[in-house]
Amino acid sequence: MIVVPRPAYSLREKVYFWEIAKGLLVTFGHLVRNLWGAASRSRTIQTWEYPEEPRPYPQRVRLLHRLVKRPDGTPKCVACYMCATACPAVAIEIIAEPSPDDAIEKRPISFVIDELRCVMCGFCVEACPKDAIRMDSEVGDLMGTRREDFLFTLDRLLEMKPRAGAYLGDRELEAKRKAGLI
Ligand code: SF4
Ligand code: SF4
Repeated sequence: MIVVPRPAYSLREKVYFWEIAKGLLVTFGHLVRNLWGAASRSRTIQTWEYPEEPRPYPQRVRLLHRLVKRPDGTPKCVACYMCATACPAVAIEIIAEPSPDDAIEKRPISFVIDELRCVMCGFCVEACPKDAIRMDSEVGDLMGTRREDFLFTLDRLLEMKPRAGAYLGDRELEAKRKAGLI
């Protein structure tokens, strides 16, 4: 075992003044560079001037929810509650009713996502057996002044459009998106 002796502090280090001055110089240097960088639009600063300069979303980003429609415009959701059960934030509330379609047991009469509670985990999307809920809408930013602005109801979720270039799963879905059905 080699014992490395602890180096003794020099007088300059004990006073700390020079080290503090060095740190302030580095900070001041960044400040000046960023001011000049912002003026010349060079990329020396890492801050995006949002919202004037919106940051492009990566392809696999999770955006706000949307509900997928059937070709007849009705929700694809069969009110199975899988998404609400999987949601760790208890952000999804569904009320179901019997579906008039004999091939489908239930449909949602109310489907509300509280986006203020949502932690954007995507578990609801993963849990859905019908691919009826997605997080590929064209909306990534949400602003509002009332709590209701953040409650996404069934109609609102069905109105949400998929983001341009969003992966829709298969050719059939892609054709439906082009036809404006989803
Ligand atoms: S993304 Fe996660 S937190 Fe948000 S509604 Fe879905 S399951 Fe709940
Ligand atoms: S998991 Fe899918 S089908 Fe089931 S209630 Fe949620 S959105 Fe509807």
